[in-house]
Amino acid sequence: MSYQIAIDGPAGAGKSTIAKRVAKEKGFIYVDTGAMYRAMAYFFITENIKPDDEVAIETKCGEADITICYENGEQVVLLNGKNVNGVIRTEEVGNMASATSKYPKVRERLTALQKELAERENVVMDGRDIGTCVLPGADVKVYLTASAKVRAKRRFDELAAKGEVCDISKIEEDIIKRDEQDMNRPIAPLRQAEDAVLVDSSEMSIDEVVEKIMSLCV
Ligand code: C5P
Repeated sequence: MSYQIAIDGPAGAGKSTIAKRVAKEKGFIYVDTGAMYRAMAYFFITENIKPDDEVAIETKCGEADITICYENGEQVVLLNGKNVNGVIRTEEVGNMASATSKYPKVRERLTALQKELAERENVVMDGRDIGTCVLPGADVKVYLTASAKVRAKRRFDELAAKGEVCDISKIEEDIIKRDEQDMNRPIAPLRQAEDAVLVDSSEMSIDEVVEKIMSLCV
């Protein structure tokens, strides 16, 4: 049986930073499920599909073959065989991912891939519905959150470090809108699983959060 650590939470809560660190310490594979939804969203953007065009999304999503592999320990997302890591981290793609992740066909495809991965390998998997839907039997479940202000500042710093010019209040607005969409969709909404441990990282360092999660792994 594989060991499964599920980390869910809203946008910008620091899930990927923390999940990567925990995976490294445990020697597990890190699975960033948001990147899969982003790759799918990127496909829709390149196909000129609008986020509210349900028919086009449900028909076309079958043409997006999304797989992941690992290079030097880093997750690489392949969209129809092409590495899209470098193009999926923008606000545009993030917003499109949030708008299109509500469609059942999109979720079905990506959830199946995620379950399959977690059956084969010990994983730290982060996302929105990992503890509730993808891996309901996970050994450790964490709901990682932080205030919207702190999350906006973190995302702003991340984008600024990559040289992207952005407006922090617009980022906060996007984050709030994204959370609202993710929490209120009918299928697999973002919510804390009943058996998940709530960790509010607003005033915690990365080391403190990692330590807290490590202490939950027995
Ligand atoms: O985590 P990240 O910001 O990369 O995720 C982008 C979007 O993908 C989220 O806003 C959410 O709508 C969607 N997502 C999801 N389920 C997951 C992971 C991400 O619906 N497990």
